[in-house]
Amino acid sequence: MASTAGVVVIGGGVVGCSVLYHLAKFGCTDALLLERDELTSGSTWHAAGGMHTINGDPNVAKLQKYTIDLYQEIEKLSGQSTGLHLTGGVMLAATEARFAWLKSLAAKGRYLGIEADIITPERAHELMPLLDPACFVGALHTWVDGHLDPSGTTHAYAQAARKLGARIERFTRVQELVQNPDRSWRVITNKGEILTEHVVNAGGLWAREVGGMVGRYHPVLAMEHMYLLTEDLPEVAAINARTGEEVLHALDFDGELYLRQERGGMLIGTYEKAGKPWSEDHTPWDFGHELLAPDLERIMPSLEVAFRHFPVFQKAGIKKVVNGPFTFAPDGNPLVGPVRGLPGYWCACGVMAGFSQGGGVGLALANWIIHGDPGFDVWAMDVARFGDWASKAYTNAKVRENYSRRFSIRFPNEELRAGRPLKTTPVYDRLKAQGAQFGAVAGLEVPLWYAPPGVTDTFSWNRSTDFDTIGEEVRAVRERVGLIETSGFAKYSVTGKGAAAWLDRLLTCRLPSPGRMTLAPMLKEDGRLIGDFTLANLGAEEFLLIGSGVAEDYHLRWFEQHLPGDESVRIAPHGAALAGLAIAGPRSRELLARVTREDVSAETFRFMDVRRMSIGMAPSVLVGRVSYTGDLGYELWCDATYQVHLLDTLMSAGEPLGIRLFGSRALNSLRLEKGYGSWAREYRPLYSPLEAGLDRFVALGKEASFIGKEGAAGEKASGGKLRLRVFVVEVDDADAIGDEPIWRDGAVSGWVTSGGFAHGSKLSVALGYVPKEVADEPDGWRIQILGRFFPARLQPQPLFDADGARLHG
Ligand SMILES: Cc1cc2nc3c(=O)[nH]c(=O)nc-3n(C[C@H](O)[C@H](O)[C@H](O)COP(=O)(O)OP(=O)(O)OC[C@H]3O[C@@H](n4cnc5c(N)ncnc54)[C@H](O)[C@@H]3O)c2cc1C
Repeated sequence: MASTAGVVVIGGGVVGCSVLYHLAKFGCTDALLLERDELTSGSTWHAAGGMHTINGDPNVAKLQKYTIDLYQEIEKLSGQSTGLHLTGGVMLAATEARFAWLKSLAAKGRYLGIEADIITPERAHELMPLLDPACFVGALHTWVDGHLDPSGTTHAYAQAARKLGARIERFTRVQELVQNPDRSWRVITNKGEILTEHVVNAGGLWAREVGGMVGRYHPVLAMEHMYLLTEDLPEVAAINARTGEEVLHALDFDGELYLRQERGGMLIGTYEKAGKPWSEDHTPWDFGHELLAPDLERIMPSLEVAFRHFPVFQKAGIKKVVNGPFTFAPDGNPLVGPVRGLPGYWCACGVMAGFSQGGGVGLALANWIIHGDPGFDVWAMDVARFGDWASKAYTNAKVRENYSRRFSIRFPNEELRAGRPLKTTPVYDRLKAQGAQFGAVAGLEVPLWYAPPGVTDTFSWNRSTDFDTIGEEVRAVRERVGLIETSGFAKYSVTGKGAAAWLDRLLTCRLPSPGRMTLAPMLKEDGRLIGDFTLANLGAEEFLLIGSGVAEDYHLRWFEQHLPGDESVRIAPHGAALAGLAIAGPRSRELLARVTREDVSAETFRFMDVRRMSIGMAPSVLVGRVSYTGDLGYELWCDATYQVHLLDTLMSAGEPLGIRLFGSRALNSLRLEKGYGSWAREYRPLYSPLEAGLDRFVALGKEASFIGKEGAAGEKASGGKLRLRVFVVEVDDADAIGDEPIWRDGAVSGWVTSGGFAHGSKLSVALGYVPKEVADEPDGWRIQILGRFFPARLQPQPLFDADGARLHG
């Protein structure tokens, strides 16, 4: 065995082989895959081999489309058949709520270039005669669905990779990983040692064990999963004879079932509600090509639905039951990318749909290793979306929930219950007593809205039980003063004698002077957005950066990758230890003046000023005059031990001013009305600051050269392709929420990034990207919400405070 390699991929399942193939394809022929047994010795060998393009997340859908398109390429190169059967499929809805979801998927498919049609149950029956149309209200017909041979596919990747120069060593188990002081890795195996620059954990069922070798817990858990193979069925033979084709794939969400033809019979699998984890603590190293004991009792409720929805199964004989384990991350998406704090160590694990997603995972990872960037927006599967808070017990609770809900609808206002509450702030109980309904952001409970007694969320695609109350919260802010808990934002202290120079190189803005703040976009090398922050200069070589809470690990990884080798800059995340409250509204200044002896008049404490002050008895509260509501407002940051005191002080001083608590749903309504974007919606690595309307914070003329400057300058010269725009939509009972297509001249022109009802202006608003050539057209827009078309008009000025008088006054 060779003693060196450029990249070592651990694991010869479908994912590891895809990573190896893509590495070799992009020119890294010095890549070596190590497999402890034969290839496919984890989950891969017993998979049902089904694949789909459609996915609720558009970026994952793109990746799935890429994967399926890839199969012909690897077949051709390797000479190995993948056993590809592109049958097409029907996704079935037995309820109106599910049908609404399918309609929104079909609409999304339009701008993703994925062909899918909404059809009647009768048409679905014509296409897939085994179903009973009386059980369904409608369906989605997709073209690019099918199945393949799991082993053939894995070997096709492997063979294609070998042909391009990559190496594979079977029966070679990685036992230890040791990082050298120069950051290279010693990969210690049962057959000797390999020195390499990069290690990829594609360990599948053993990903946790491989993570343990570098001292990390990766949040994955295997669940048992069953499918049945029937004896040959005359009905199947009849369909084959009549159409000359195989039976179409079917996904029956309400029955939690998937079905396809397998030889002369059918394969039927289910994601049952009572899912069972497998090997919760350790995956045995001697687990190999073996199946788990079937447990038909567990899947009986789903099978009973199958008997009704597909009557042919009532008399079908069962030939075989397959029960095997495969891994899931807490949200069901893969864990891909570089792991923070471990240079050269990469993840490609938690891939629960290896045959739909494995190609995209390999593409992203190979791009990232070779070119330093995944090449597309991988936020939904980035390993950095989970921090240390995603513990083993949390993962266990969430994976069970995810498995049981795999085919369930998640409504836009639905907060999932498992693994909560995990992290809470000191004011949690007080806010709860006031009716706070919480959601979880990176494990932390954050108030969404304050429900009157006896009212809770009714899950719906349409406006729901929270609508009127959110309206009241918004009006309290616009007319008087509101208070929101903001501890969910990420906060980082940047200190040291090199801090200013480092931030100047990392961020596109001019650094604020001491006592001032600014908005601060952060770019990748190619000039696209990788972050947007508020930067406060606290003087004496100390800065505070405030950004998206869900992206804390994602941004820390970037910061740490770019720290100078010396000790001149220190970056420290505060998490919820630095607690936040914010007040906003026309009476917020009056409120602040009541709780501090400092002069907070408009002339002395200006928009974007920041200062430490005592609030009530709490010393050294950091107060910034800035507000995401777009109104006059202040953000207050204090040591968490003072947060309860701060809340009580503000609430009692605010009582005569009509203060009201508000949550993040009201904040969303307020920021939409002002046209403010947010991270992971409007601001993502897909867009340049010019396209996102953030170019005024990109100081191309500043002395320091910053990361992405060339890209941003090039974009400015070319004008980019897209523009972020605000639309007012004439809807009835459902607002846009994100990912809806924006139509113009009978074709899809762009897509919505977020939307909702702007209660202050009493208008439905959608933010979205459209081509720059038509971006200033005032009319002629339509937005497709839940499959229906609604007229929209461009809103060039903010609906609230267009001249900034309230914000700056
Ligand atoms: C019953 C069932 C049905 C399924 N149906 C489908 C389906 O229809 N469609 C679909 O897309 N997906 C399906 N899946 C899921 C699919 O199998 C997985 O998504 C996929 O196999 C994951 O592949 P992987 O390469 O990540 O992991 P694995 O297949 O588990 O591969 C990991 C490999 O790493 C090796 N390894 C681990 N540690 C080491 C080490 N230290 N040294 C060397 N080698 C190591 C292992 O031996 C193994 O071969 C199904 C799974 C099951 C169980």
